[in-house]
Amino acid sequence: MAERGDREAFVTLATNDTYALGCLVLGNSLRQRAQTTRKLVVMITPGVTQPMRNQLARVFDMIYDVNLLDSRDAANLQLLGRPDLSVTFTKLHCWRLTMFDKAVFLDADTLVLQNVDELFDREELSAAPDAGWPDCFNSGVFVFRPSEETYDSLLKFAMSQGSFDGGDQGLLNMYFRDWATKDIARHLPFIYNVVSQAFYSYLPAFTQFKDSVKIVHFIGATKPWHHPYNTATKEVTPLPETGHNKDYLQIWWDIFMSFVQPTLDPSLGGLIGELASLSLQTGATFGGSQSHLSEQERKLNWERGQVDYLGADKFENIKEKLDKSMKGPATSSKTYTSNPFSTSIPVSTTSTAKKPVAPKK
Ligand code: UDP
Ligand code: MN
Repeated sequence: MAERGDREAFVTLATNDTYALGCLVLGNSLRQRAQTTRKLVVMITPGVTQPMRNQLARVFDMIYDVNLLDSRDAANLQLLGRPDLSVTFTKLHCWRLTMFDKAVFLDADTLVLQNVDELFDREELSAAPDAGWPDCFNSGVFVFRPSEETYDSLLKFAMSQGSFDGGDQGLLNMYFRDWATKDIARHLPFIYNVVSQAFYSYLPAFTQFKDSVKIVHFIGATKPWHHPYNTATKEVTPLPETGHNKDYLQIWWDIFMSFVQPTLDPSLGGLIGELASLSLQTGATFGGSQSHLSEQERKLNWERGQVDYLGADKFENIKEKLDKSMKGPATSSKTYTSNPFSTSIPVSTTSTAKKPVAPKK
């Protein structure tokens, strides 16, 4: 019989090169810091480029291609009409990894600080409470048992019920709806999925238990890779509006600079190319302050209430845009609202299930 280490795996997901950066740091945290004995799997979609795929192959034992367009059955076909659920459904593919008896899913924005191999002793579906609504579990870390049957059943459930938050967390909480009440063994302690803003919501508990924290989760639209990093001081600058803990951001960047950045392919474009060209000798500061977000990402952040006050969305820029709009042709029907992305639609505050927790008053 194969060793347990071969039949159990940590699984993560990237649909683009930027999230793949997160997977690389996560994979290295599992190997270098946590010294796991289990396999590492990354699920990717065609949105991940070949050079990034090569990079992932250095860290992960298995790259599992997921292509939603290769529809397998009727449920998958129906999905093509639901682009809003595409990342959610990509995550569900982890149930198809039936070469493993048991697996632990980890979001690409998690970081493992200590060995967590004991998670494989838990049963499906084990997860930690969500900091925003603790009767729901957070779907950034969960223990599951791969099974085609469960996969099909999840897809059918999703097709008929949808997801109350539009994402995987709402869906999985409805499907595994007895999690909150049935079996306390399926409640992972919070130390397995600590939001990196936890020190805001309950500082005394954070101070008391911080040495026990095993997995950190950088929830929210601004991820560790969006933060400014100074190559001379080797320090990351926290962005106050995101609330991520500086020590955790620093660990993420230390792992990134030690194990990921040195082998990044400089031919990669955008944020990754810029990170690949960083040199510790020059003492240059890597951008951050959301300057590397695409217009679309910035719009999403704005709608989530995460405004880059110090960078692209600073007052001067908004004023400039306002002045330009006002000077526009008299026939123009454009109206300025406080959302600089929109010329006529009022700011919408899209509610997402996993917003960073607000500081305690
Ligand atoms: N993800 C991805 N591409 C995306 C969005 C999400 O690959 O465009 C994956 C990635 O593994 C990510 C997970 O889905 O960690 C959940 O999204 P995210 O972590 O951004 O949500 P949050 O934890 O902030 O609610
Ligand atoms: Mn996440």
